[in-house]
Amino acid sequence: MENRWEIGNLTAMKGEKTKAYLELPTIEEKLPAVLIHGTGEGPKVLVMAGIHGCEYTSIDAAQKIGSGLDPSQVNGKVIVLPIANPASFYTRSIYVHPSDQKNLNRVFPGSINGTEAERLAYWLNESVFKEVDYVIDLHGGDMIEALVPFTIYHVTEEKSICETSKELASLFDIDYVIGSSGQVPGSTYGCAAEQGIPAIIAEAGQQGILSPEHSILLQEGVKNILVSLGIMEGQLKKSDSTYISVFDWYRSDLQGLWYPAVQTGAAVVKGQNLGRITDEFGETMKEIVSSTEGVVLFLVTSLAINPNDPLLAVGA
Ligand SMILES: [Zn+2]
Repeated sequence: MENRWEIGNLTAMKGEKTKAYLELPTIEEKLPAVLIHGTGEGPKVLVMAGIHGCEYTSIDAAQKIGSGLDPSQVNGKVIVLPIANPASFYTRSIYVHPSDQKNLNRVFPGSINGTEAERLAYWLNESVFKEVDYVIDLHGGDMIEALVPFTIYHVTEEKSICETSKELASLFDIDYVIGSSGQVPGSTYGCAAEQGIPAIIAEAGQQGILSPEHSILLQEGVKNILVSLGIMEGQLKKSDSTYISVFDWYRSDLQGLWYPAVQTGAAVVKGQNLGRITDEFGETMKEIVSSTEGVVLFLVTSLAINPNDPLLAVGA
Protein backbone atom coordinates (compact mmCIF):
# COMPACT_ATOMS: atom_id res chain seq x y z
CA MET A 1 0.00 0.00 0.00
CA GLU A 2 2.89 2.33 0.79
CA ASN A 3 3.83 2.39 -2.87
CA ARG A 4 0.45 3.65 -3.94
CA TRP A 5 -0.93 7.11 -3.10
CA GLU A 6 -4.55 7.79 -3.84
CA ILE A 7 -6.49 11.04 -3.65
CA GLY A 8 -10.04 10.67 -4.92
CA ASN A 9 -9.91 9.17 -8.40
CA LEU A 10 -6.18 9.89 -8.76
CA THR A 11 -3.23 7.61 -8.06
CA ALA A 12 0.52 8.18 -8.00
CA MET A 13 2.90 5.31 -7.41
CA LYS A 14 6.11 5.87 -5.48
CA GLY A 15 8.52 7.96 -7.58
CA GLU A 16 5.72 8.98 -9.91
CA LYS A 17 4.15 12.28 -10.88
CA THR A 18 0.51 12.24 -11.94
CA LYS A 19 -1.03 15.15 -13.85
CA ALA A 20 -4.76 14.64 -14.24
CA TYR A 21 -8.18 15.91 -13.23
CA LEU A 22 -9.54 15.38 -9.77
CA GLU A 23 -13.22 14.49 -9.86
CA LEU A 24 -15.18 15.34 -6.76
CA PRO A 25 -18.64 13.85 -6.10
CA THR A 26 -21.51 16.21 -7.02
CA ILE A 27 -19.10 18.82 -8.41
CA GLU A 28 -19.56 19.52 -12.08
CA GLU A 29 -16.07 20.80 -12.89
CA LYS A 30 -12.96 18.68 -12.71
CA LEU A 31 -10.02 20.18 -10.86
CA PRO A 32 -6.57 20.08 -12.47
CA ALA A 33 -4.25 18.31 -10.03
CA VAL A 34 -0.62 17.29 -9.82
CA LEU A 35 0.39 14.51 -7.45
CA ILE A 36 4.10 14.22 -6.72
CA HIS A 37 4.82 10.99 -4.87
CA GLY A 38 8.43 11.32 -3.77
CA THR A 39 10.99 8.56 -3.74
CA GLY A 40 11.80 9.21 -0.06
CA GLU A 41 9.58 9.17 3.00
CA GLY A 42 8.11 12.37 4.40
CA PRO A 43 4.89 14.26 5.13
CA LYS A 44 1.99 15.04 2.80
CA VAL A 45 1.33 18.62 1.74
CA LEU A 46 -1.45 20.31 -0.20
CA VAL A 47 -0.55 23.42 -2.21
CA MET A 48 -3.57 25.08 -3.75
CA ALA A 49 -4.66 28.31 -5.42
CA GLY A 50 -7.65 29.64 -7.27
CA ILE A 51 -10.11 29.39 -4.37
CA HIS A 52 -10.69 32.93 -5.64
CA GLY A 53 -10.68 32.59 -9.41
CA CYS A 54 -9.15 35.95 -10.38
CA GLU A 55 -6.09 35.93 -8.12
CA TYR A 56 -3.89 35.14 -11.09
CA THR A 57 -0.42 35.55 -9.61
CA SER A 58 -1.08 32.88 -6.98
CA ILE A 59 -2.66 30.54 -9.55
CA ASP A 60 0.43 30.93 -11.72
CA ALA A 61 2.67 30.25 -8.72
CA ALA A 62 0.83 27.02 -7.83
CA GLN A 63 0.85 25.85 -11.43
CA LYS A 64 4.63 26.41 -11.65
CA ILE A 65 5.23 24.65 -8.32
CA GLY A 66 3.34 21.62 -9.66
CA SER A 67 5.25 21.67 -12.95
CA GLY A 68 8.62 22.12 -11.29
CA LEU A 69 8.58 19.42 -8.61
CA ASP A 70 10.33 16.17 -9.50
CA PRO A 71 9.51 13.01 -7.47
CA SER A 72 13.22 12.17 -7.28
CA GLN A 73 13.76 15.41 -5.30
CA VAL A 74 10.81 14.87 -2.98
CA ASN A 75 10.63 13.07 0.36
CA GLY A 76 6.96 12.62 1.02
CA LYS A 77 3.99 13.62 -1.07
CA VAL A 78 2.77 16.89 -2.54
CA ILE A 79 -0.58 17.52 -4.19
CA VAL A 80 -0.98 20.77 -6.12
CA LEU A 81 -4.41 22.15 -7.08
CA PRO A 82 -3.63 25.31 -9.08
CA ILE A 83 -7.27 26.09 -9.90
CA ALA A 84 -9.38 24.91 -6.97
CA ASN A 85 -12.47 26.78 -8.18
CA PRO A 86 -12.56 26.45 -11.99
CA ALA A 87 -16.06 27.93 -12.36
CA SER A 88 -14.92 31.20 -10.80
CA PHE A 89 -11.68 31.18 -12.81
CA TYR A 90 -13.29 30.76 -16.22
CA THR A 91 -16.17 33.15 -15.57
CA ARG A 92 -13.68 35.67 -14.04
CA SER A 93 -15.94 35.92 -11.03
CA ILE A 94 -14.64 38.26 -8.32
CA TYR A 95 -14.83 36.88 -4.74
CA VAL A 96 -17.72 34.48 -5.34
CA HIS A 97 -18.73 31.26 -7.06
CA PRO A 98 -20.78 32.23 -10.14
CA SER A 99 -23.56 29.72 -9.42
CA ASP A 100 -24.50 30.70 -5.87
CA GLN A 101 -22.66 34.02 -5.33
CA LYS A 102 -20.97 32.58 -2.24
CA ASN A 103 -17.37 33.23 -1.27
CA LEU A 104 -15.68 29.80 -1.24
CA ASN A 105 -13.25 31.03 1.42
CA ARG A 106 -16.16 31.73 3.81
CA VAL A 107 -18.10 28.45 3.56
CA PHE A 108 -15.63 25.80 4.78
CA PRO A 109 -16.12 23.02 5.89
CA GLY A 110 -19.05 23.26 3.50
CA SER A 111 -22.06 21.04 3.29
CA ILE A 112 -22.73 17.82 1.40
CA ASN A 113 -26.20 18.98 0.33
CA GLY A 114 -25.40 22.68 0.04
CA THR A 115 -25.03 25.08 -2.87
CA GLU A 116 -22.18 24.77 -5.41
CA ALA A 117 -19.58 26.59 -3.29
CA GLU A 118 -20.64 24.72 -0.14
CA ARG A 119 -20.42 21.33 -1.87
CA LEU A 120 -17.02 22.22 -3.37
CA ALA A 121 -15.75 23.22 0.10
CA TYR A 122 -17.17 20.01 1.56
CA TRP A 123 -15.46 17.74 -0.95
CA LEU A 124 -12.17 19.63 -0.87
CA ASN A 125 -12.12 19.20 2.88
CA GLU A 126 -13.22 15.56 2.88
CA SER A 127 -11.22 14.33 -0.12
CA VAL A 128 -8.07 16.46 0.07
CA PHE A 129 -7.55 18.39 3.35
CA LYS A 130 -8.14 15.29 5.48
CA GLU A 131 -5.63 13.33 3.36
CA VAL A 132 -2.66 15.65 4.03
CA ASP A 133 -0.55 16.84 6.96
CA TYR A 134 -0.23 20.51 5.92
CA VAL A 135 -2.31 22.93 3.84
CA ILE A 136 -0.81 25.86 1.92
CA ASP A 137 -3.46 28.05 0.25
CA LEU A 138 -2.19 30.73 -2.15
CA HIS A 139 -4.14 33.94 -2.71
CA GLY A 140 -3.61 37.57 -3.70
CA GLY A 141 -5.54 40.74 -4.27
CA ASP A 142 -8.66 39.99 -6.31
CA MET A 143 -9.44 41.74 -9.62
CA ILE A 144 -10.38 44.94 -7.77
CA GLU A 145 -7.93 44.75 -4.86
CA ALA A 146 -4.45 46.10 -4.28
CA LEU A 147 -2.36 44.63 -1.48
CA VAL A 148 1.06 44.37 0.09
CA PRO A 149 2.05 40.71 0.41
CA PHE A 150 1.13 39.07 3.70
CA THR A 151 0.53 35.62 5.15
CA ILE A 152 -2.17 34.45 7.58
CA TYR A 153 -2.48 31.62 10.07
CA HIS A 154 -5.38 30.68 12.30
CA VAL A 155 -5.02 31.12 16.06
CA THR A 156 -6.37 27.78 17.33
CA GLU A 157 -6.93 26.58 20.88
CA GLU A 158 -4.53 23.76 20.02
CA LYS A 159 -1.16 25.41 20.76
CA SER A 160 1.05 23.09 18.70
CA ILE A 161 -1.10 23.48 15.56
CA CYS A 162 -1.09 27.25 16.03
CA GLU A 163 2.69 27.39 16.54
CA THR A 164 3.40 25.18 13.51
CA SER A 165 1.07 27.23 11.31
CA LYS A 166 2.75 30.42 12.52
CA GLU A 167 6.20 29.01 11.69
CA LEU A 168 5.07 28.05 8.18
CA ALA A 169 3.54 31.49 7.67
CA SER A 170 6.90 33.04 8.61
CA LEU A 171 8.84 31.19 5.90
CA PHE A 172 7.97 33.52 3.01
CA ASP A 173 10.10 36.54 2.18
CA ILE A 174 7.07 38.59 3.24
CA ASP A 175 7.06 41.21 6.00
CA TYR A 176 3.59 40.81 7.49
CA VAL A 177 2.32 37.67 9.21
CA ILE A 178 -1.23 37.84 10.56
CA GLY A 179 -2.52 35.66 13.36
CA SER A 180 -6.26 35.56 12.74
CA SER A 181 -8.54 34.60 15.61
CA GLY A 182 -11.43 33.53 13.44
CA GLN A 183 -12.88 36.96 12.67
CA VAL A 184 -13.36 35.60 9.16
CA PRO A 185 -15.25 32.30 9.56
CA GLY A 186 -15.38 29.53 6.99
CA SER A 187 -11.84 29.96 5.66
CA THR A 188 -9.71 27.17 4.20
CA TYR A 189 -6.86 27.60 6.68
CA GLY A 190 -9.17 28.01 9.68
CA CYS A 191 -11.11 24.87 8.77
CA ALA A 192 -7.92 22.85 8.32
CA ALA A 193 -6.34 24.14 11.55
CA GLU A 194 -9.48 23.39 13.58
CA GLN A 195 -9.18 19.78 12.38
CA GLY A 196 -5.57 19.57 13.53
CA ILE A 197 -3.93 20.25 10.16
CA PRO A 198 -1.44 23.17 10.25
CA ALA A 199 -2.44 25.56 7.48
CA ILE A 200 -1.69 29.00 6.08
CA ILE A 201 -2.71 31.46 3.43
CA ALA A 202 -0.08 33.47 1.55
CA GLU A 203 -1.20 36.53 -0.42
CA ALA A 204 0.75 38.26 -3.20
CA GLY A 205 -0.15 39.90 -6.50
CA GLN A 206 -3.12 42.12 -7.22
CA GLN A 207 -5.77 43.61 -9.49
CA GLY A 208 -6.05 40.88 -12.10
CA ILE A 209 -2.46 41.38 -13.22
CA LEU A 210 -0.07 38.44 -13.36
CA SER A 211 3.08 39.57 -11.57
CA PRO A 212 6.05 37.28 -12.33
CA GLU A 213 7.96 38.84 -9.43
CA HIS A 214 5.23 38.07 -6.89
CA SER A 215 4.65 34.63 -8.39
CA ILE A 216 8.32 33.85 -7.70
CA LEU A 217 7.91 35.24 -4.17
CA LEU A 218 5.10 32.71 -3.54
CA GLN A 219 6.95 29.84 -5.25
CA GLU A 220 10.11 30.47 -3.22
CA GLY A 221 8.09 30.66 0.02
CA VAL A 222 6.39 27.33 -0.68
CA LYS A 223 9.76 25.73 -1.52
CA ASN A 224 11.16 27.11 1.72
CA ILE A 225 8.28 25.43 3.60
CA LEU A 226 8.99 22.15 1.78
CA VAL A 227 12.65 22.47 2.84
CA SER A 228 11.64 23.16 6.44
CA LEU A 229 9.45 20.02 6.44
CA GLY A 230 12.29 17.89 5.02
CA ILE A 231 10.36 17.31 1.80
CA MET A 232 13.01 19.04 -0.32
CA GLU A 233 16.74 19.45 0.14
CA GLY A 234 18.07 22.97 0.39
CA GLN A 235 19.09 25.85 2.58
CA LEU A 236 16.31 27.10 4.84
CA LYS A 237 15.91 30.86 4.47
CA LYS A 238 14.74 32.86 7.46
CA SER A 239 13.25 36.31 7.06
CA ASP A 240 12.23 38.94 9.57
CA SER A 241 8.49 39.00 10.05
CA THR A 242 6.24 41.61 11.60
CA TYR A 243 3.52 39.79 13.53
CA ILE A 244 0.06 41.28 13.40
CA SER A 245 -2.82 40.24 15.62
CA VAL A 246 -5.41 42.86 14.72
CA PHE A 247 -6.74 42.72 11.18
CA ASP A 248 -9.35 45.46 10.91
CA TRP A 249 -11.64 45.18 7.92
CA TYR A 250 -13.69 48.17 6.82
CA ARG A 251 -16.79 47.49 4.81
CA SER A 252 -19.29 49.67 3.03
CA ASP A 253 -22.90 49.82 4.15
CA LEU A 254 -23.82 51.99 1.17
CA GLN A 255 -23.89 51.87 -2.59
CA GLY A 256 -21.80 54.59 -4.16
CA LEU A 257 -18.36 55.68 -5.34
CA TRP A 258 -15.29 54.78 -3.27
CA TYR A 259 -12.41 57.25 -3.03
CA PRO A 260 -9.58 55.85 -0.89
CA ALA A 261 -7.36 58.44 0.80
CA VAL A 262 -4.49 56.03 1.47
CA GLN A 263 -2.40 53.52 -0.45
CA THR A 264 -1.42 49.94 0.36
CA GLY A 265 1.55 49.74 2.71
CA ALA A 266 0.77 53.17 4.20
CA ALA A 267 1.12 53.61 7.95
CA VAL A 268 -2.04 55.09 9.45
CA VAL A 269 -2.96 56.41 12.87
CA LYS A 270 -6.17 56.10 14.86
CA GLY A 271 -8.73 58.66 13.69
CA GLN A 272 -7.07 59.13 10.29
CA ASN A 273 -9.30 59.53 7.26
CA LEU A 274 -8.99 56.40 5.09
CA GLY A 275 -11.34 57.43 2.32
CA ARG A 276 -14.88 58.43 1.53
CA ILE A 277 -17.94 57.13 -0.24
CA THR A 278 -19.80 59.63 -2.36
CA ASP A 279 -23.09 59.55 -4.20
CA GLU A 280 -23.21 59.79 -8.01
CA PHE A 281 -23.13 63.59 -7.76
CA GLY A 282 -19.91 63.73 -5.74
CA GLU A 283 -21.52 64.49 -2.37
CA THR A 284 -19.75 62.69 0.48
CA MET A 285 -22.11 60.21 2.12
CA LYS A 286 -19.61 58.64 4.49
CA GLU A 287 -16.04 59.13 5.68
CA ILE A 288 -14.11 56.01 6.66
CA VAL A 289 -11.95 56.66 9.73
CA SER A 290 -9.23 54.38 11.08
CA SER A 291 -10.03 52.82 14.45
CA THR A 292 -6.43 51.64 14.97
CA GLU A 293 -2.83 52.54 14.30
CA GLY A 294 -1.36 50.20 11.71
CA VAL A 295 -0.57 49.45 8.08
CA VAL A 296 -2.97 49.33 5.12
CA LEU A 297 -2.64 45.72 3.95
CA PHE A 298 -5.25 45.66 1.25
CA LEU A 299 -7.36 48.19 -0.52
CA VAL A 300 -10.33 47.84 -2.86
CA THR A 301 -9.59 49.86 -5.99
CA SER A 302 -13.03 49.66 -7.56
CA LEU A 303 -14.79 53.00 -7.83
CA ALA A 304 -18.14 51.19 -7.71
CA ILE A 305 -19.03 49.98 -4.23
CA ASN A 306 -22.01 48.02 -2.97
CA PRO A 307 -23.35 47.43 0.54
CA ASN A 308 -21.24 44.83 2.39
CA ASP A 309 -18.27 45.20 0.01
CA PRO A 310 -14.87 45.32 1.72
CA LEU A 311 -13.11 48.69 1.35
CA LEU A 312 -9.73 48.07 2.96
CA ALA A 313 -8.05 46.40 5.89
CA VAL A 314 -5.56 47.70 8.42
CA GLY A 315 -3.17 45.38 10.23
CA ALA A 316 -1.97 46.40 13.68
ZN1 LIG B 1 -8.31 35.19 -2.17
